[in-house]
Amino acid sequence: MIIIMKKDASAHNIQKICKQAGKSGLAVDILKGTGRTIIVIENIRGPLESSPFELNEDVEKIIPIAESYKLAGRNYKSESTVVKVGEAKIGGKELVLIAGPCAVENPDQIFAISDIVKKAGGKILRGGAFKPRTSPYSFHGLGEEGLKLLAEAGNSAGLAVVTEIIEVDQIDIVAQYADMLQIGSRNMYNYQLLKEVGRLKKPVLLKRGLSATIEEWLNAAEYIMNEGNHEVVLCERGIRTFETQTRNTLDISAVPIIKELSHLPIIVDPSHGTGKWNLVPSMSCASAAAGADGLMIEIHPNPDEALSDGFQSLNFDSFMELAKQLKKIAMAMGRSFG
Ligand code: PEP
Ligand code: MN
Repeated sequence: MIIIMKKDASAHNIQKICKQAGKSGLAVDILKGTGRTIIVIENIRGPLESSPFELNEDVEKIIPIAESYKLAGRNYKSESTVVKVGEAKIGGKELVLIAGPCAVENPDQIFAISDIVKKAGGKILRGGAFKPRTSPYSFHGLGEEGLKLLAEAGNSAGLAVVTEIIEVDQIDIVAQYADMLQIGSRNMYNYQLLKEVGRLKKPVLLKRGLSATIEEWLNAAEYIMNEGNHEVVLCERGIRTFETQTRNTLDISAVPIIKELSHLPIIVDPSHGTGKWNLVPSMSCASAAAGADGLMIEIHPNPDEALSDGFQSLNFDSFMELAKQLKKIAMAMGRSFG
């Protein structure tokens, strides 16, 4: 942090700041410029709270020099993090395809889906068992039965599985079946849940909050990492804007921005990002071309009959077609696929 003092700052007030910083064990440097004093305070642990210094009447301006997300930042680690989930390596050369239903509904549905995901070159099967729904009257998932079916279907097709955890007390049961735990959009600000998954030794898929800035999203990742779990994959899934043509506004620019600010992998979910199945192929291709490390796509054997999010789910034909296009884009981007 850089503190610029007022021109006529008193020696007493300059000393006061140095003492305050010294007391907390922080390194202090004083630069005497052209009549103005500049104090540089360094903290090896992370960003500093500026409020105690703001109260000093001789302080003109405070400039933070560290991001509030330290562990998640590129400054902490310059090489990109690669998160291994089953056979997939997310954040490396590969463009990783994750697909599955919004919710696990029954054995026929999830086994048919796991076969097609494998066939398309997918590496991870997704499927909700505990569903956070906007309406209390909607389908909320099969619970543990859904987790079992997801794990069985993944296992039989040779796919890792990812599923959402919505409450702290589900952690043991979800971790028992899932290879990667998803923190959904609605829970990005649930700091207790973030801390709990931070204590696990399992990869976490952290979705961007409905109206979260990129900085808030990276701070949510920081909560997980600060507990010791550095296997975090970020997922852009659209944010709420004034536009009503789509369910959310998919922020593809988040991909290169995250790549610059953070070493963590980033994937894109164009299904929730648009809320319209017919927009999913083009937005998937655009995300891959923007440098995303993977895609998460909702699919269903009969989208018309899906118990949740059928309107944004691809059927098997359009999914296979999309996989072919993604392979071409991956190659053009110098990535592998499938
Ligand atoms: C989901 O992936 O099933 C989901 C509910 O997504 P989101 O948290 O992005 O709404
Ligand atoms: Mn869904």
